[in-house]
Amino acid sequence: MMVKGIQVQLCEFVTQRWTLKPRTSISISSLCPISHPYLSLKLLPTHTTPRTTRFSPFRASSSLQSSGNVLSIKFCQWCGGSTKHDIPEGEEKLRAICTLCGRIAYQNPKMVVGCLIEHDSKVLLCKRNIQPSYGLWTLPAGYLEIGESAMEGAVRETREEANADVEVISPFAQLDIPLIGQTYMIFLAKLKKPHFSPGPESSECQLFSLDDIPFNSLSFSSMVVTLSLYIEDMKAGKPKFHYGTINKRFLFSSYIHDIFP
Ligand SMILES: [Zn+2]
Repeated sequence: MMVKGIQVQLCEFVTQRWTLKPRTSISISSLCPISHPYLSLKLLPTHTTPRTTRFSPFRASSSLQSSGNVLSIKFCQWCGGSTKHDIPEGEEKLRAICTLCGRIAYQNPKMVVGCLIEHDSKVLLCKRNIQPSYGLWTLPAGYLEIGESAMEGAVRETREEANADVEVISPFAQLDIPLIGQTYMIFLAKLKKPHFSPGPESSECQLFSLDDIPFNSLSFSSMVVTLSLYIEDMKAGKPKFHYGTINKRFLFSSYIHDIFP
């Protein structure tokens, strides 16, 4: 098993770090515009002197917080009773507890599922016609519904946002965003037929060549990371599966741990 880690921090600088093998670590501090945060990445020998350049912070609007604001839960979802906020015995986190029926409103992360659609060496993006990130570009993606698998949800979201029927090729990336309680699961997919058009939540759908992806106008940090990983993979020859964490506490940093045979 080979493990690769990438660390990206976007405050004023971007830092990337790879560990390709247990004894081969690569550390690069680079300065690249947000429009192509990963395009200048190169696999350099361990002794290479890091490069440092200026960097501008991620500008897209923040995504909705899925969970975590326990104080906003004022009433019980089961009986409508008012809640108190306390740490239940044996637990460590503050919870909303119903003062009438005693039930605890646990909050858990939500899964966002979507497709990275390859077609004629291009990828399909949708311009958002809804908030948050109205007017910015995204992969077709949305919240997983109860009763469907992640793959089914990704196909459904693609149908809803891009009126496109797709066949999933493989999982591509799982990106956790702990601070806002979200996990993104993105699948590589292809169009069953070369037809797509904007659904109600999109104002445009368009195929972009990898050199033309609008990194300055992407909706979410997860999309920046996903598309950057994809470009990096395609330059290396083929896509592979990525797992990582996006830490929004530092504006935008990600830790990608690739596991591949
Ligand atoms: Zn209750």
